[in-house]
Amino acid sequence: MAENIGIPFLEGHYSPTLDLWPIEAKEFNRIHTFYDNLKEGKYTTTKCRGCGYISYPPRVICPECYSDDLEWIELPTRGKVITFVEKSIAIPIGFGEPLIDAWIDLGKDSPVRHVFSRVINCESGAIKEGDEVRFVVFDVPGHPIEWRKEKWIAERVYFAFEPVK
Ligand SMILES: [Zn+2]
Repeated sequence: MAENIGIPFLEGHYSPTLDLWPIEAKEFNRIHTFYDNLKEGKYTTTKCRGCGYISYPPRVICPECYSDDLEWIELPTRGKVITFVEKSIAIPIGFGEPLIDAWIDLGKDSPVRHVFSRVINCESGAIKEGDEVRFVVFDVPGHPIEWRKEKWIAERVYFAFEPVK
C-alpha cells in the first residue's frame, strides 16, 4: 500500500467517513481543474464567458445565466487579514492546534475581493487584523480511487494562507 494514503491517525487505513478533504480526481470532481491548478501553485476560480460573472468558490455552471461555458482565472496570492477566529480547544479531529480561519482581503484589483481560508504555519496568538498573508499549497493524504476496474492512489493537495514573515 502506498505510503501517503488514508488518515494519519488511522495509521494508514482509509475511512471515507473521516476523510476531511475533497476527492480531486477528474473522474469524480467536475472542478478538478481547480486542484490541477493548485498543484501548479495557482489560485484560480471560474468566470462565465457569457455574462462575465465570477464565482468563488469555482463552479461548473454560472449562477447568473446558467451557462456552462466558464473559463479559469487566476487570483492574487497575497492578501490582508480582515478578521479571524483562532481555536485552541475543541479542534475537529484531524486538524492541529491552533486552528485559524480568516477573512482575507485580496485587494481592490482582485476579481474576488474577499475569501475565507484557513491560516497555517502560524503560532498561537501570532496573527492580528491587517497582517499580510500569502497563498500556500500543501499535500494531503492520497485518496484511493477505483474506476472501471482500475485502482490507484490519487495524490491530493489543498490550500491555505500563511503569514508573510
Ligand atoms: Zn453567466
